[in-house]
Amino acid sequence: MTIRGVLFDVDGTLYDYEKAEEAGLHEHLVAKGLSVRFESPAEALRVWREVREEEYPRFLNGELTFAAQKAARIRRFLAHAGVVGALEWTDEAATAWFASYAVQRDAIRRAFDDAQPVLGALAGRFRLGVVSNSVTAHQRAKLDAIGLLGYFTEPLICSQEHGSAKPGASIFLAGCEALGLTPAEAAYVGDDYEKDAVGARDAGLQAVWLDRSASGGSGAVDAGIRVIASLTELMSL
Ligand SMILES: [Mg+2]
Repeated sequence: MTIRGVLFDVDGTLYDYEKAEEAGLHEHLVAKGLSVRFESPAEALRVWREVREEEYPRFLNGELTFAAQKAARIRRFLAHAGVVGALEWTDEAATAWFASYAVQRDAIRRAFDDAQPVLGALAGRFRLGVVSNSVTAHQRAKLDAIGLLGYFTEPLICSQEHGSAKPGASIFLAGCEALGLTPAEAAYVGDDYEKDAVGARDAGLQAVWLDRSASGGSGAVDAGIRVIASLTELMSL
């Protein structure tokens, strides 16, 4: 079956989320005088990510709104930092703290170096789309800021508006529908093995797992999943 379209994950695939998060958190903690509450920047980041990994899924499963998961993360993180009364912070106070962190994070946001050249090369030959576990307005603004939005002419498909998240099949199928393609005609590229690669394969798409830690050279992992170490390798697939 010929591939006619490519759907992409955003964070960790096109956008270097982890680098922005790390630098933004550090800058913000220094600005707030809180960096001294942690043994090291690495320890602060470890706690931050641990809390994120527990709270963000509560947004994805519909238990919390996007804003409420931010507030929950801030209360827990600041409680770890020893901020007295942090667990009782109002949503407003916690969301404002998150927003001021996000200003620092977004000051350095950038696409991965391989994203723009590869999207540019694919754009004339394939329909391109986005399927993301996030909120459409948020991802649209992000892609715009990093100079990639123009490559996506079809609606972005995000879990908030779609109503369910990866790795469920439904959101991948919605992405194919947005491109006007059958699942077999579409490839899906993402950095999370279970949510992206396994989810896309199980939905019937051509699954490509982006493992940026790999040494290079495309290959196969589980049946039906191709692995690449950089987006540039997509061109040879
Ligand atoms: Mg990702």
